[in-house]
Amino acid sequence: MIGIVVVSHSAALASAALELAGQMVHGDAPHVVLAAGTEDGGLGTDAARVAAAIDEVAESAGADGVLVFVDLGSAVISAELALELRMSDAPVRLTSAPLVEGLVAALVAAAGGASLDAVAAEAEASLAPKQAHIGEESAPETSPSDSAAAAPSHTLTFTLRNPAGLHARPAATVAAELGAFDATVRLRNRRTGAEASNAASMSALLTLGARQGDEVEANASGTDAAAALARLEALAADGFGELEEGDTEVSAAASAAGGSSQLGSAGGDSSQAGRARPAPVDSAKPNGDLAADVVPAPDGPLPADAVAAADAPGIPISPGAAVGPVVRMPDPVVEPPAETTLAESERAAAAASLAPAFAQVHDSLTHRARRLTDERFRDARAVLEATAVLADDKALAAEAAELVTRLGATPERAAWLVLGALAELIAGQGGAMAERAADVRDLRGRVIARLRGETEPGLPDRGDPFVLVVDELAPADAALLGTTPCVALVTASGAPTSHTAILARSLGVPAVVWPGARTLRDGDTVLVDGTRGEVEVDPSADRVAEASARPEIPPFDGTGRTADGHHVELLANVSGGADAADATRAEGVGLFRTEFVFLDRQEEPSVAEQTAAYRAVFAAFPGRRVVVRTLDAGSDKPLAFVAGSREQNPALGVRGFRTARAYPGVLARQLEAIAAAARAERADAWVMAPMISTAAEAREFAAACRPHGFARVGVMIETPSAALCAPEVLAEVDFVSIGTNDLAQYAMAADRQSGPLAALTDAWQPAVLRLIRLVGEAGARVGKPVGVCGEAAADPALAPVLVGLGVTSLSMAPRALDEVAAALGAVSREQCVAVGAAAAGAVGPREARAAAAGALASTA
Ligand code: PEP
Ligand code: MG
Repeated sequence: MIGIVVVSHSAALASAALELAGQMVHGDAPHVVLAAGTEDGGLGTDAARVAAAIDEVAESAGADGVLVFVDLGSAVISAELALELRMSDAPVRLTSAPLVEGLVAALVAAAGGASLDAVAAEAEASLAPKQAHIGEESAPETSPSDSAAAAPSHTLTFTLRNPAGLHARPAATVAAELGAFDATVRLRNRRTGAEASNAASMSALLTLGARQGDEVEANASGTDAAAALARLEALAADGFGELEEGDTEVSAAASAAGGSSQLGSAGGDSSQAGRARPAPVDSAKPNGDLAADVVPAPDGPLPADAVAAADAPGIPISPGAAVGPVVRMPDPVVEPPAETTLAESERAAAAASLAPAFAQVHDSLTHRARRLTDERFRDARAVLEATAVLADDKALAAEAAELVTRLGATPERAAWLVLGALAELIAGQGGAMAERAADVRDLRGRVIARLRGETEPGLPDRGDPFVLVVDELAPADAALLGTTPCVALVTASGAPTSHTAILARSLGVPAVVWPGARTLRDGDTVLVDGTRGEVEVDPSADRVAEASARPEIPPFDGTGRTADGHHVELLANVSGGADAADATRAEGVGLFRTEFVFLDRQEEPSVAEQTAAYRAVFAAFPGRRVVVRTLDAGSDKPLAFVAGSREQNPALGVRGFRTARAYPGVLARQLEAIAAAARAERADAWVMAPMISTAAEAREFAAACRPHGFARVGVMIETPSAALCAPEVLAEVDFVSIGTNDLAQYAMAADRQSGPLAALTDAWQPAVLRLIRLVGEAGARVGKPVGVCGEAAADPALAPVLVGLGVTSLSMAPRALDEVAAALGAVSREQCVAVGAAAAGAVGPREARAAAAGALASTA
């Protein structure tokens, strides 16, 4: 006998329907499981629960199969998602049959031993008696869309050519373009069977899960049906405006396999295919960057040490000074309670608030996108535009409104459910599509904030300069600071070598970590002195002038050298094509942090996508050295696609090169992409691995790299063990680069992210300097380069010390180049050796600074 699952937002509704239907069955009844309401008794559906219910029923129903009833809206989405999640392989059918009548018919038919298809047919026809009785079967009233549906229908089949599938940007294009026609266009993905009942709805398009090479059937009705399909065909042939040159081949192959587009007699113009276009939105910068993710409500009071101390000293994070009004980063949106149910009388007004909230979000995102005119922000702009189109999707607001009117959900809760279910569905599709789930969650937070009359979450949307004040800034948000007129940053927690600090420094935004940040109010005028680590409310004009006064420093001339001409390469640290373009004053790139390009990715980027990202950096340095570091995932830079099991102590866990054991394919594909990018740009590509602890790991990495023919293969020295074994490590590779941020963390056993421990993770600590000396000496013995690419390389006072300890190149945020070059140009190599020895021989960091200054003065 077949089994039945009922998916409903309301447990009460589902059990009442079942109770009613159960009255009609005599004898053996089918096994029915309800997946209704939320765990805590609220309204909602949960794909995982539905999947569990299907599996439970499948156990007794076996090959007879399972019929799944759904009530409305996100219940459908949850049920569809559950089909992906379930473990059993029994046949399952979702039915659109009405819950009450359908369930009655299904129970009776199933109890009588009918097959799955027969039971579904019974259920789906169950409204007929009621319709006949009420007389609905004769000449129903026609709405404009009904009349469109009645008009002759036109069809088209096309093959999706876009490498990233029908993701947000092409979906936004289709929705916007087809919305202009008087036609209803339905789409069906032949591979998955998923259908979108209205191609003018972006959210419906995203649920198609269409990937490159999928055949999509389009069926249009209405006055403009033929014109709408002709437009769709042209758009599809053009890859919805985002094909790269090389994508033509993929498409040609797909067409040869029988998937070329055909439109009745209209014929398609595919002459634009293969035209060079910007990369798809997913392929470049992090874009969850704009995603102000919604987080669950904090479940306890803030820890005592998180309470602001206005008189606590600040920690300098990024040098420079700026004055401006405080803008506090809005708090993340918390989940609206499920318990509240609106009275009938309140529902209409509440439901009506949804469309304006979506519209306000659409407008704010559109305005924000328009302000990003700089080409560097092209990808950020594309993400904003795509999210704006999603906000404009009337179907989403309507679906949420339905939950309010029918079930009494609050508008916030309804938006939470509808957009949450859509995000889940999109995330479940995997690939580049899954990335868009973050955009949907971002939209959800914004809509809910609007409904509550609060500021939209995420980076503040301001046209005028401001000082951003936030408890803690995620690296993804920090990466986007440059898209705003933020002039300075104050965070309540953090440390100088944290990745957020590194990003702020590369943007040249003065930043201070100050526990008193929470005492600052919106609109306060503050001076942020990132050099001294001070934050001052209502500063005097004299204080502002003093903080802003900068000594005249000659610009870096392109070659780093000591006063007596000893060449010390001065290189740049970059995190992608955009900042590489700003770094070309450097002699080359000493550290390309590849993980920064993919910080928000849920799935591993394809080789083609990675190749494009690496090419963007190589292209900025034609013929010059670019040291590409393979993915340094884990600890404070988690990457979802190389996430290991949860660890007690991630900084000491599977991170950096250690992830290559668990994900050898990820490293292999990254090396393939770096090699392809280097060939395409004729770059002087060096590669190195992060977080190496032993000579054996260095050997393993070199063996993986050699077949690709990179100019040089090296490793980072970030652990005391690698520094102590530098001679053995250097025997395996062509060069090493010292990551002082991590080396200090591990040498001093102090978390680099901890503000209170910042004095321990100071690179002037003699223990750190002595480890650097070991590496410098080992490099000098075998004549192999020893670089420094941690934040220490950007400290002008430390530069002569490092050179004196045997370092041959310094790689830093490009803004530090002038000062470091000037500091080196003022000392001879012999002086460097003297200051290096003095600093490394000191008893503490303060003494090391004083000893270096003393040695410099006495040798001048
Ligand atoms: C370092 O640890 O010094 C380094 C350069 O690597 P990252 O800061 O990216 O960990
Ligand atoms: Mg490191």
